[in-house]
Amino acid sequence: MRRILFESLTHGPLTEQPPAADDAAIAELAKNVEKAAQARLGRSLSIRQVDAGSCNACELEIHALANAFYDLERFGLRFVASPRHADVLMVTGPVTKNMREALKRTYNATPDPKWVVAVGGCAADGGIFKGSYACVGGVSDVVPVDLHIPGCPPSPRALLKGLLALLEHVTGEHR
Ligand code: SF4
Repeated sequence: MRRILFESLTHGPLTEQPPAADDAAIAELAKNVEKAAQARLGRSLSIRQVDAGSCNACELEIHALANAFYDLERFGLRFVASPRHADVLMVTGPVTKNMREALKRTYNATPDPKWVVAVGGCAADGGIFKGSYACVGGVSDVVPVDLHIPGCPPSPRALLKGLLALLEHVTGEHR
């Protein structure tokens, strides 16, 4: 016991060191997202996240968007607690049979104009849960999808890029 205590005091953590941040890439993404958000929505884009049956790793990456490093709110992009306040539904996971009706109701409760972003491989077509007795399939099997962000899970940077792509598309539609 004493040996274990001594080792825990003298050895550092065994977790992998984080990679160095790519400041230039983050700054470029930040600038582009801010510009697109301002053009379309005047610094206001509200996102309602819906877990339709994911393993929660996609949620961990989405949560990282709100941390001090990515700080999504500085672009005017924010998560909201109700679909009635949302412009975008960000949906993760395969859609389970238990969540099919809830996802449909959430979609119907979101005011127009609205956009649906399917996040991760499971949201595309069920991913590793495809064919499970408990799953309906991908998000597009239940509600219309405007954008799919691939990955298992996608990184916060990939999520930012996806939001930018959506904003550029929407801005182009309304020019
Ligand atoms: S895409 Fe990967 S990380 Fe996301 S819910 Fe599916 S298995 Fe989990």
